[in-house]
Amino acid sequence: MPSPDDNRPALVLFRNDLRLEDNPALNAARLSGCPLVCVYIYETEGDAAFRRPGSASRWWLHHSLESLSSSIRSKGGSLILRSGRLVSAVESLIAETGACEVHASRRYDPAGLEADTELADALRDGDIPFYRHEGFLLHEPSSVRTSSNRFYRVFSPFARKVIPLVQDARPETCDLPFHFASPPESDKLGDYAFLPSEPDWASGFSPQWQPGEEGAQTTLQHFLSNGLSDYTVGRDHPGKYGTSRLSAHLAFGEISPRQVWHGVETAAPRNPGRGVTTFQRELIFREFAWHLLTNLPQMAWSNIDSRFDRFPWQEDANDPSLIDWQKGLTGYPIVDAGMRELWQTGWMHNRVRMIVASFLTKHLMVHWKRGEEWFYDTLVDADPANNAFNWQWTAGSGADAAPFFRIFAPVTQGRRFDADGRYVRAFVPEIAALPDKFLHAPWEAPDDVLSAANVKLGVDYPRPLVDHAAARQRALDAFKGLKDD
Ligand code: FAD
Repeated sequence: MPSPDDNRPALVLFRNDLRLEDNPALNAARLSGCPLVCVYIYETEGDAAFRRPGSASRWWLHHSLESLSSSIRSKGGSLILRSGRLVSAVESLIAETGACEVHASRRYDPAGLEADTELADALRDGDIPFYRHEGFLLHEPSSVRTSSNRFYRVFSPFARKVIPLVQDARPETCDLPFHFASPPESDKLGDYAFLPSEPDWASGFSPQWQPGEEGAQTTLQHFLSNGLSDYTVGRDHPGKYGTSRLSAHLAFGEISPRQVWHGVETAAPRNPGRGVTTFQRELIFREFAWHLLTNLPQMAWSNIDSRFDRFPWQEDANDPSLIDWQKGLTGYPIVDAGMRELWQTGWMHNRVRMIVASFLTKHLMVHWKRGEEWFYDTLVDADPANNAFNWQWTAGSGADAAPFFRIFAPVTQGRRFDADGRYVRAFVPEIAALPDKFLHAPWEAPDDVLSAANVKLGVDYPRPLVDHAAARQRALDAFKGLKDD
């Protein structure tokens, strides 16, 4: 193996770890003593191209790469961009730079794993070590097993096992100076066309988000000071800023889960309530989703509970009710507010994600895969494990899923969690003048109340797409049919 003395560089492949701090792959490359070539490869061919980032994620990725690139520049280096098949791009870079080793964060999604295995095989043939490092998760999904040596399918025992293992998680520091090799040619970020232009449907994203490592740290600090203490209650109210909004930063690895976990631990003495443990439990849900995906790769596209293969889902991507749901035109204000928040900001509050997912899969009986695909394309935090896990959980077909008969009643949910209507009024302005009493069920409003609020149902705002009680019964009957088969 070449020694660092011969000055051959180490390649650092950035992927969903777009940060300089607490980045084990980067730290290991720095510790190797080799000069660094920092690279981001946009995988447009090969296994990892199978599920490229969706449209909203590409918007985020553009800005995140800009931010990482500027951080690396401030240290005296540059971020090299390449696209194509992972193995071909890395082989070209090795040929161009003479790199003697490759470092990257480990990936756990099926397509990323395949691509990394192909790369490992190719590099082994060329005698170049390919080091894969932890960093994306708090735990290694393959290392945690039940007493009968199986993976966990139920959250609570998983959490009981994992929390003691990660309790002391803390960021890894590296004080070595940065030392870069002379950079090879780079693609231009703008040429990847990650940003929408005509129309610019992402114009509402910028005021909401600051992609990149600095934005991630600011977001964490804001949450620790303002949201953590009241998180247990605050996280259920979409009209408040009650959750961390760290999901996209975590999905792109602009902040590590260790940094978040440790940040919360450090803030715990100032936040004596249940907020800390409730929040950490949510981070463990992320671990659980990845634990499941690693052990059940087909979870991203097929029912974990195979009884649901016989469920009479509506699967047509052009189904009119699916399109009304996507546009936020179902006539149920809390559902429509959620779908419009998603479209306008690239994000949706967790409680509302559950409501809209339940509505699609149970009230409309549209297959969860259609919802998963829409979310994957429109969420800035789209994440193959969290998204599929949560869709299957809500639909009832998942591991440790919500029981099928748990059908969220949109009006009750709206009245309970958006009692003052702040959320619905923000995203469904055409009914904003309705009094609170009718805001979540405009069809119940008497004519004089509707005309005082300037609302003509069926003209300004749709009547409900389905009747709640009838739709609920239809779904329950279909589910009963599964059990009777
Ligand atoms: P916080 O409440 O502040 O939680 C902190 C972190 O914990 C989150 O950033 C996230 O990483 C993790 N987390 C929280 N809730 C969950 C959960 N239920 N499952 C797994 N991890 C969780 N989350 C994604 O990151 N990407 C997705 O693609 C995604 N798709 C979803 C689809 C559906 C149908 C549902 C119901 C939920 C989905 N979630 C997804 C989970 C959750 O809604 C988001 O993680 C959360 O709303 C992000 O906001 P936050 O960062 O403010 O969360």
